[in-house]
Amino acid sequence: MTADNPYQSEILSKDQEFVWHPYSSLSDPIPAYEVVSAEGVNLQLADGRQLIDAMSSWWCAIHGYNHPVLNAAAKQQIDSMSHVMFGGITHAPAVNLCEKLVNLTPLGLSKVFLADSGSVSVEVAIKMAFQYWISQGQADKNKLLSLRGGYHGDTFAAMSVCDPVNGMHHIFEKVLPQHYFAPAPQIAFDQAWDDRDIADFKSIIETHHKQLAAVILEPIVQGAGGMRFYSPEYLRQVRALCDQHHVLLIADEIATGFGRTGKLFACEWSQISPDIMCLGKSLTGGYMTLAATLCTEEVSRGICEGEAGCFMHGPTFMGNPLACAVANASIDLLLSQDWSANIQRIENTLATELPAFNQLRTVANTRVLGAIGVIEMKEPVNVAQIQKKFVAQGIWVRPFGKLVYIMPPFIITNQQLKQLIQGIYKVLSAPD
Ligand SMILES: *Cc1c(COP(=O)(O)O)cnc(C)c1O
Repeated sequence: MTADNPYQSEILSKDQEFVWHPYSSLSDPIPAYEVVSAEGVNLQLADGRQLIDAMSSWWCAIHGYNHPVLNAAAKQQIDSMSHVMFGGITHAPAVNLCEKLVNLTPLGLSKVFLADSGSVSVEVAIKMAFQYWISQGQADKNKLLSLRGGYHGDTFAAMSVCDPVNGMHHIFEKVLPQHYFAPAPQIAFDQAWDDRDIADFKSIIETHHKQLAAVILEPIVQGAGGMRFYSPEYLRQVRALCDQHHVLLIADEIATGFGRTGKLFACEWSQISPDIMCLGKSLTGGYMTLAATLCTEEVSRGICEGEAGCFMHGPTFMGNPLACAVANASIDLLLSQDWSANIQRIENTLATELPAFNQLRTVANTRVLGAIGVIEMKEPVNVAQIQKKFVAQGIWVRPFGKLVYIMPPFIITNQQLKQLIQGIYKVLSAPD
């Protein structure tokens, strides 16, 4: 027991000895918090404390934890089969899920490739785009255009289209493929549009379209790269420019999909359909890892009519029945309620409560879209220090850089949400 960390179990000591955590140092490890169970919006710590979760475990747990409907779906599936290979074999959980995804996503997306994680679905999307152009006899279209401030995952192709600064491209310079980057959109979600915001993007696509296989971006919300909400008009114009210059559009909805922004998919804000779309994170309601890459008939036909005769990808755990069964239950559960009114309720509470933070001298600004609330600080926060203070307030908030943000499970009550925001306010307004 130390003053810094009053609870030091055997698990925590072994954790520091053996375990990598996301983006963590093993030479200077920051103690993690041991969670023993989770229920509703609460995380139960091993030391007896209970925390209201503001993170939905990185956008995933939209229905909260330990949900009876999702538990039942998992248990029922596990009693018939947990996994079978997907090569030459099919099953109802996967087929039903793919049909559901085609019916829910923007018009034109009609084929589904199931993948294991968000990053892999981005790899798959990029491979689809490249293989499509190779099949068309246009192998020179082998570059991508993405946006600064973007985040698309941690594997190599995904990393090569992440923000070059956040993604530390310079240290991977020799191993990362080089792609094009347009500046991050500057016009905010509800600000008046100005064509100058897309001028650089336009000139890059005009100059390089013969080399460009695809544009890849996060529609409307740039998530882990900066939590920024940009104008739907930007995305509309990107779609039009892609069409005009024969460049595919990949929409990475891994963070935004399934209602988070107030629309089922963020592309709906601009009323556009991408050629390829990635889904992940909340796909299984946060129960297990599963992702999907959807594409149009044009893309799938183009790929399959090429020299390879098939799409060159096939993960071992593709279409895992257990994950698909829970995904089906999670989507049905979401659609069985007035989810849109519920997101509006969360948005209203966030929009009422967050402006008060602007009075704090350390806060640069606040913004809200759907069930996402962001408090941008003037200076980067010390995550380890501030996390301890949040935990002391009974809340789980994990900031990065200058961003303290809230994206709670959709089941959070207004009272829990206010408690959460009050906890954040206490921490941010306390003198150091
Ligand atoms: C989280 C995320 C990914 C990566 O998903 P993983 O499951 O972590 O591999 C990709 N794109 C976006 C927009 C994300 O938010």
